[in-house]
Amino acid sequence: MSQTLHRLLRRPKYTLCCTLCGAEYDPDPFRLHCDAEHEPALLRAVYRSKKLEVKEQLPGLFRYMDWLPVEQTLNVAGKPITYESHNLARYLGLSQLYISFNGYWPDRQAELYTCSFKELEAPSVLARIPSHHPRTLVIASAGNTGRAFATVCSDQGLPLCLVIPGQNLSAIWSRYRFQPNVRLVVVSGNGDYSDAIALGKMISQLDQYFPEGGAANVARRDGMGLTVLDAAVSLGRIPDHYFQAVGSGTGGISAWEANLRLLEDGRFGSNRMKLHLAQNAPFTPMVEAWNAKSRDLPPMHQNRAKAQINRVAAKVLTNRQPAYSIAGGLYEALLETDGQMYGVTNREAERARVLFEELEGIDICPASGVATAALLQAVKAGNLDRRDCILLNITGGGAKRMQQDYPLQTLQPAIAFAPHEIQPEIVLEHFEQDQRNPILLSANDLEAV
Ligand SMILES: *Cc1c(COP(=O)(O)O)cnc(C)c1O
Ligand SMILES: [Zn+2]
Repeated sequence: MSQTLHRLLRRPKYTLCCTLCGAEYDPDPFRLHCDAEHEPALLRAVYRSKKLEVKEQLPGLFRYMDWLPVEQTLNVAGKPITYESHNLARYLGLSQLYISFNGYWPDRQAELYTCSFKELEAPSVLARIPSHHPRTLVIASAGNTGRAFATVCSDQGLPLCLVIPGQNLSAIWSRYRFQPNVRLVVVSGNGDYSDAIALGKMISQLDQYFPEGGAANVARRDGMGLTVLDAAVSLGRIPDHYFQAVGSGTGGISAWEANLRLLEDGRFGSNRMKLHLAQNAPFTPMVEAWNAKSRDLPPMHQNRAKAQINRVAAKVLTNRQPAYSIAGGLYEALLETDGQMYGVTNREAERARVLFEELEGIDICPASGVATAALLQAVKAGNLDRRDCILLNITGGGAKRMQQDYPLQTLQPAIAFAPHEIQPEIVLEHFEQDQRNPILLSANDLEAV
């Protein structure tokens, strides 16, 4: 049967389309790349439903299931919330400032208990994996992504191998005790995020494991893009401006892709929301590239990058391989939206963070302070009209409030690797021994819809 005929008969919910050559693929949840021989390019999910129908009876963020690449839901509570700011808006003299709050804030029904928008991507990525899939997902993370996946996997009984630098152990906490289906691997000593990524990659190539794919995974991007969908549904329109702090750039790409889908829907206006994206100085490779109107990131010297990263308060923004140059990536999103990038110092970010907490009444994370500081810069520089409709993405908040409201549990490491042990033979040997004690694969309580 021809592929086209096959597709017509099965009518999949979505297809995967190459942003460079336009090749279309069936919705294989493990496909991360186009097969054509060209430069690296992101695939994008193209959904059959062009009109977004919000399904309020579905749990949490799955109400936006039409535009998530999943066939089933998980029983999660959280979703982004959108509200109109009064105090910060008045302080800045803005007449339409909306906040997308991603975190824990019980007064406003914000129920992302791991306190960042990484908890939007985790359920979407996890629900996309077929039930009872025999291989285990591997995630390498320095913090928020790891906490989000560990918590959702633990709560839902899904297997996970999480790899983090040992220095970041305190970032992996949860309301509930972690279940044994979540296995934590650490890089000991002075191992950093890059070491964790290298180790995670080696583990994910072993037979019983698979990688998540990062920015290349459409489930991750479309989960993060829900901030924009929730805002558009709440406001009845696409905002004029979007502010976010970026590290891998994935969130910025996702916001743009959500914008494209809303344009196709037609009921939310015809805005191309201007992306205002920020990094924490002195580690600002994307700011430098964009200000030079360059598709290429500046050359990164290992030692210099490490020294800069050490000085940055918002560590989640220090990805050394962001999805910037790749086709369909952040450079193109900035180009298409006439976007702008901001470098924010620790001082500016801290001031903005405190200001937000005082005015809006909830603690926010350093990265959200960076985004808020970018908004302050933009207002001061006159980059927007004070009457414009502005969406500020608070990508993480409420962690302090969580600590006040719940005793938090931490996850104990199962295996530790020293940085010099991150070699394929050593990793393989370790995990072969580990076969005798594999991660539990049962208790998968996915609900088919
Ligand atoms: C990951 C993260 C970011 C950066 O998002 P990217 O998609 O990596 O650019 C910003 N803020 C918080 C709180 C994050 O966890
Ligand atoms: Zn292609």
